Amino acid sequence: MGTTAAIREHYDSLAFIYRTFWGDHIHHGLFLDGDGPARAQVRLIEYCVGLLGAVGRDVLDVGCGHGGTAIRLAEQCGCRVLGITISEKQAHIAHDNAARAGVGEQVSIVAADAEAFAYPAERFDLVWTMESSEHFADKSGYFQNVGRTLRAGGELLLSAWTGSMTSPRVQEVATRFLCPELWTREQYESAVAAAGLRVRVADDLSPRVLRTWEICSQRAKAAGVAVKLLPAAVREFVAGIDVIIEAYRSGEMTYTVITAQKP
Ligand code: SAH
Repeated sequence: MGTTAAIREHYDSLAFIYRTFWGDHIHHGLFLDGDGPARAQVRLIEYCVGLLGAVGRDVLDVGCGHGGTAIRLAEQCGCRVLGITISEKQAHIAHDNAARAGVGEQVSIVAADAEAFAYPAERFDLVWTMESSEHFADKSGYFQNVGRTLRAGGELLLSAWTGSMTSPRVQEVATRFLCPELWTREQYESAVAAAGLRVRVADDLSPRVLRTWEICSQRAKAAGVAVKLLPAAVREFVAGIDVIIEAYRSGEMTYTVITAQKP
């Protein structure tokens, strides 16, 4: 079930596995010819940054994972980043990673629920939401908060697993990956617009991110029998890999990137 407690437990207990399997970027890679996973993960961030009009100084990274993006934005763009994550364990990892990368002064991390967070009015130039909104029960309410916390001219970067809950495959992905529901690109666009933001880009990156899961599948197969010895949460995650690959291949699940600006 995609309850807040279950999501927290998932990211607390799978922190080690995510790091081992995929590294400290817990998001898809954007694969161009010859890219390995580490390059593809950074490429997705670079691609998203390239879609923005400008990368402002104050960034809120909602669902910041292990801090991979926050560190990158601090290093490459000189941003000050506040990252929030539901997982205490991730918050510690992200904090340590930022300090180790030498950007501890620029990056702050708090363990907090994004759906209950007190978003300060007109405080941020960029709200970065990469593969976290899938877990939110009230996505419309979340975008209202984004609209409030952005300064005029500030931007939202959203990347999300997208698809219609009328599809059984998409439903199964949502259930297995602890998402109360997935939304279609159109649902996201209208909720973002309803929050007073102007959608500038809505891109489908599916064909270029699917390899993420093919690689995860290969790695899980290579781990072979060892996977059976891992905790149930990990085995469920591994079992979900083929479900997601099938959902992508069917075209019923897609990967969407949206940027929107507060007028
Ligand atoms: N954006 C990161 C991590 C994506 S994984 C990256 O790209 O690497 C999903 C993230 O969403 C995790 O950090 C998880 O803790 C966070 N998350 C999920 N539900 C949340 C909630 N209600 N409040 C805050 N963070 C949440």
